[in-house]
Amino acid sequence: MGLFDRIKKAFSAEPEKETPVEQDQAIPETPVESDATPVESQTPAETAAAEKTETDEPASLATEDDSETVSPLDTPTAAPVNSEPEPEPEPEPEPEPEPEPEPVEASAVTEESDAIEEVPETEAVTGDMQAAETKKYDDGLEKSRLTFGQRLNALFANFRSVDEAFFDDVEEMLIEADVGYETAMKIADELRDEVKLRNVKKPEAVSQAIVEKLVDLYGQEGQAEDNQLYFAPQGELTVFLFVGVNGAGKTTSIGKFAHQLEKAGKKVLLAAGDTFRAGAIEQLQEWGRRDNVPVVASAAGSDPASVVYDAVKRAKEEQFDILLVDTAGRLQNNVNLMKELEKVKRIITREVPAAPQEVLLVLDATTGQNALVQAKQFKQTTDVTGIILTKLDGSAKGGIVLAVRTELHLPVKMVGLGEQMNDLQLFDPNRFVYGLFKDIIVGDGPQKTTDTDVSQAIK
Ligand code: GDP
Repeated sequence: MGLFDRIKKAFSAEPEKETPVEQDQAIPETPVESDATPVESQTPAETAAAEKTETDEPASLATEDDSETVSPLDTPTAAPVNSEPEPEPEPEPEPEPEPEPEPVEASAVTEESDAIEEVPETEAVTGDMQAAETKKYDDGLEKSRLTFGQRLNALFANFRSVDEAFFDDVEEMLIEADVGYETAMKIADELRDEVKLRNVKKPEAVSQAIVEKLVDLYGQEGQAEDNQLYFAPQGELTVFLFVGVNGAGKTTSIGKFAHQLEKAGKKVLLAAGDTFRAGAIEQLQEWGRRDNVPVVASAAGSDPASVVYDAVKRAKEEQFDILLVDTAGRLQNNVNLMKELEKVKRIITREVPAAPQEVLLVLDATTGQNALVQAKQFKQTTDVTGIILTKLDGSAKGGIVLAVRTELHLPVKMVGLGEQMNDLQLFDPNRFVYGLFKDIIVGDGPQKTTDTDVSQAIK
């Protein structure tokens, strides 16, 4: 079964038994099975939280309200760990409304996390959490979804028959949707063959096939992709380096991530390694105040490598769990800035050989193909381990995720789906694809769907 059919099945299933979307095959199976819970990509943070604070605020995902409820990242521990089992599933009819059913993350972790094997959650709760999580993707991708739907509608309104001009427009539409040039050509060519083979005459009949092909191609290309974030084993320092051009959302992502980590009970330190952009240090310090997390900073214009050195030293001496390092927004072709980045990375590795565990390239989704070009150039000079795609909520270019996978082969690890703290989410490929094309996946046409339809289907 292709990814399209698997997603369709998962999201159309009955509420209760539903196993939300299964992680795409792309994702390596993690040791830990959350047999009990389908939750897959519950926020990492959550997992961690589960593990450490039982008393902590109740689950977060069910409500997406404020910034208090941590979301995705609730629990990053050593490697994308799995969550802790709840006290004890009593043989009783109904246990206690425990704080929160912690979703379990399928982790790519390599080491056994001390406890967890299964997640004690009631199906109902799980369903709510799933729905909340899915809704974030639905909401964050609304603009992209509507734009794509409108383009499809316009395409079908303009053609009465499936001819070469129709296919030219299909190609153009896909390119405009930012799925990538190669992907657009491939899909259009396959459609031509299929239409000929099946003797399809009506343009409307092609709409589902377009999306099905996009989704299946996305699934195939992601076979070996690992979207997990990696953390050091418990008790050791994890360092994440954030890179990208100015304005992409590095500082904001660090601030949101730090908040979620801190809420999950982690001891977090920030390093203001962007000593170049005016105001960047203060911006990070402001996040530090908001998140209640310390920030190591020096004067503007000072050597970022020395700031990072000080931060790593402090993190080790004071046993921080996680150090998040901001860096100067560099033009990907600026040799000096690229060298500076290498120096920063060298220092981190010298002080903590296993670090940085992640080098995250932050890309602004609203810049579409330009983001792809940036990523290609960064990839040539820096060992990027994953991508954070920001501002998807303000973009109609969600298709860029497909292009990142099919053309770049760098895993997207987090996505920015809105302005709230919790809107920085761990990337869930299946929810993403569903959010982008749900009208066609579960409906029977671009304009047919409504949020209500779908959320009812998955609740
Ligand atoms: P930096 O130069 O890479 O550090 O970028 P900033 O973190 O300063 O972000 C630039 C702008 O993008 C700020 O106004 C942020 O509020 C905004 N931003 C960052 N991420 C997101 C997101 O996921 N969604 C939305 N809507 N805005 C974002």
